[in-house]
Amino acid sequence: MSIDGKVALVTGASSGIGAATALKLAKAGAKIGLAARRLDRLSALQQQIADHGGQAVALEMDVVDQASVTAGAEKLAEAFGSIDILFNNAGLMPISDLEALKTDEWHRMVDVNIKGLLNTTAAVLPMMIRQKGGHIVNTSSIAGRKVFPGLAVYCATKHAVTAISEGMRLELSKKHNIRVTCIQPGAVESELFEHISDGNYRGQMEALKEQMEFLKADDIAETVLFALQAPGRMDIAELFVMPAQQP
Ligand code: NDP
Repeated sequence: MSIDGKVALVTGASSGIGAATALKLAKAGAKIGLAARRLDRLSALQQQIADHGGQAVALEMDVVDQASVTAGAEKLAEAFGSIDILFNNAGLMPISDLEALKTDEWHRMVDVNIKGLLNTTAAVLPMMIRQKGGHIVNTSSIAGRKVFPGLAVYCATKHAVTAISEGMRLELSKKHNIRVTCIQPGAVESELFEHISDGNYRGQMEALKEQMEFLKADDIAETVLFALQAPGRMDIAELFVMPAQQP
């Protein structure tokens, strides 16, 4: 299925997986709503997409704030007429042990990784139901399948994303012609590790980069495009994408 002319809302589009996917979808002909908080980054990406002959709008959006999400989705629909694809990708991963009691970081992960995804879904789903079709792609993780030390809360949020994705597929696919894909990457080179405030875990993640080759954000973008372009009869429900060297 071609995505040429489709309209995609991409959250977390200011860096990493979201930015790479926005660019890739634009090159495949989709019109993109670039959503994140760092507007300067979004404007630069918007320009890059325009330089390739594509179309995008920059949407300053905090996924935690429902009003900001609703306003962004409305702006995108006004600009391009609809929203056909939602890439729920914004997220963060500040690793620490539970006993460190970094409760602000726990709450932040729940707010962005789970509630943020629900906020954007709530803003876009009515449009997809009205237009009798769409495709929602959610970024979970290997942490949405397994649990690791230091990642209890992050893993809980990504297990939630996996569960919500399956629930969406069960409720939306047959009834509303909305396909749902859950992407579960292993380690990807991005800015994700820069927000780790625990020195020990930050050091471990830096060391890991020396030990194995991480995936590129563009590898995940390619995976998202693959799921979106699958024939209409197919719903690629889950894609577990690992660096070849990661156990
Ligand atoms: P980055 O840190 O590069 O990107 C995270 C993105 O999320 C940024 O664009 C950031 O934008 C956005 N974001 C964070 N908080 C908010 C918010 N409140 N509102 C709106 N946007 C927000 O990391 P990745 O590209 O790696 O991460 C993308 C997704 O992939 C995340 O869900 C992550 O959990 C998941 N993932 C990453 C893996 C990896 O190894 N890198 C592996 C598996 C999954 P801004 O700060 O401008 O708002």
